Amino acid sequence: MQQYEAVIGLEVHAELQTQTKMFCSCPVIDSTSAAPNTAVCEICSGMPGTLPVINAQAVSDAVKVGLALNCTIAATSVFARKNYFYPDLPKGYQISQYELPLAQNGWLDISLPSGLRRIRINRCHLEEDTGKLTHVEGASLVDLNRSGVPLLEIVSEPDMHSVEDVKAYATTLRTLLQYLHVNSGDMEKGVIRFEANVSVRPQDSTELGTRTEIKNLNSFHALTHGVAYEIDRQSALLRENKKVQQQTLGWDPVEGKTVPQRSKEEAHDYRYFPEPDLPPLVLEETFIENIRSHLPELPGHKKQRFLEQYHLNEYIASVLTTDCTTADYFEAAVQAFPSNSAENIANWLIGDLFSLLNQAGISISDCPISPYALSDLVALVEKDLINGTTARQVLADMFVSGSDPHTVVEQKGLRQISGEEDIEPIVQQVLADSPEQVQTYLEGKKTLQQWFFGQVMRSAQGRAKPEVVKKVLAEHLQILEKNHLIE
Ligand code: ADP
Ligand code: MG
Ligand code: ZN
Repeated sequence: MQQYEAVIGLEVHAELQTQTKMFCSCPVIDSTSAAPNTAVCEICSGMPGTLPVINAQAVSDAVKVGLALNCTIAATSVFARKNYFYPDLPKGYQISQYELPLAQNGWLDISLPSGLRRIRINRCHLEEDTGKLTHVEGASLVDLNRSGVPLLEIVSEPDMHSVEDVKAYATTLRTLLQYLHVNSGDMEKGVIRFEANVSVRPQDSTELGTRTEIKNLNSFHALTHGVAYEIDRQSALLRENKKVQQQTLGWDPVEGKTVPQRSKEEAHDYRYFPEPDLPPLVLEETFIENIRSHLPELPGHKKQRFLEQYHLNEYIASVLTTDCTTADYFEAAVQAFPSNSAENIANWLIGDLFSLLNQAGISISDCPISPYALSDLVALVEKDLINGTTARQVLADMFVSGSDPHTVVEQKGLRQISGEEDIEPIVQQVLADSPEQVQTYLEGKKTLQQWFFGQVMRSAQGRAKPEVVKKVLAEHLQILEKNHLIE
């Protein structure tokens, strides 16, 4: 049977979260929560006779991304008008870059189960975001808070061949933008949006097939499901010897399918022309080199360093470095108590603390437990002052109360009982309270030892040191067995 190969190229729109908008001094605000039309002026609302001014911060952020994506930065790039009408675009055109984009010909390495793969980047160009429409019964409302927010469009070459590739590329890119401090990566707030170009061809072919473009993919879920759906749909068409139509599609998240928006015949002609109100963007070599020399440590490098410096495994190192706030939190915790095992800190962080954060719907940057306090808790476990079970309880308490671990342990009397002399009486009591189980044990049901262990731990409210309980319990059971034999 003929096998087919999918070919996918992605266009990613990332907001650059600068202080002010791309061409005016309105602030860039969270457009999902702010009251509509509160960050708008005559420039970003497209009044005639106004003039745009290029935001220097947006330019340097874009250069940062371009460099981190191994692109060549253009000494001269040019803004262009992309003309179309839409109610969220009051000017009737969007200022973008077309023939001469800011950055070109780079790559991004993505990590796949089969190893690293290089995805080529075609270009990155600067543009401005549009406003937002909300459709209510019988009307559409326009909010221009987002109008004019700096956007960077990052276009890949068609180098991806599966949903897994797409997911790895999108997440790696999101992590990179976050590391560069140009974008929060907060997908729910729409700060990164995807468009996927998908085609399918016979496995042995090297020519590109006819593509469709899926617009409005605003989450990883929509992106991966949209691409999977298109690959299946197109493969089925080819298998039936039918043709794929070049089309722009929308993603319907409710139906879980792509829906045609327009076909090639009605394709937009944007009538791009150089923006007459802006000069070409000329960047000095020193400006670019200065940004290059101040690039932060990037995700791939940080992960490698974590593997070597902290002797972590692949999995832990990846989880810690997927988000630079998590990586920073981890390193601050390690520095707070250098004698703690870094691996223990990592496990407490990505295990118990992450699940508390998840349950509370809080991100690590708003974590109520400081890196110092987490590490302090890990030190208590390492010094054997509390056991793991108690530590979990203490952590949950710290999460709510904001107290330090010592206070919680003292106030709740949670210090570990590890002296044999303190554990003996508890063991004796449990055995004395369970004559039937002792009898059954002596008659040969040795698995009851585990049950006795559980009873002792419960009786000590989980504070007893498990190894000592095991030892003392074994000793007492041995004595009982001896006596039993003699009888
Ligand atoms: P446009 O501006 O019309 O969307 P581009 O040439 O800029 O077109 O391409 C947009 C994206 O589509 C790029 O990511 C590119 O890699 C991808 N692409 C182009 N042709 C194909 C194809 N046949 N199959 C899959 N992706 C494609
Ligand atoms: Mg496109
Ligand atoms: Zn404005």
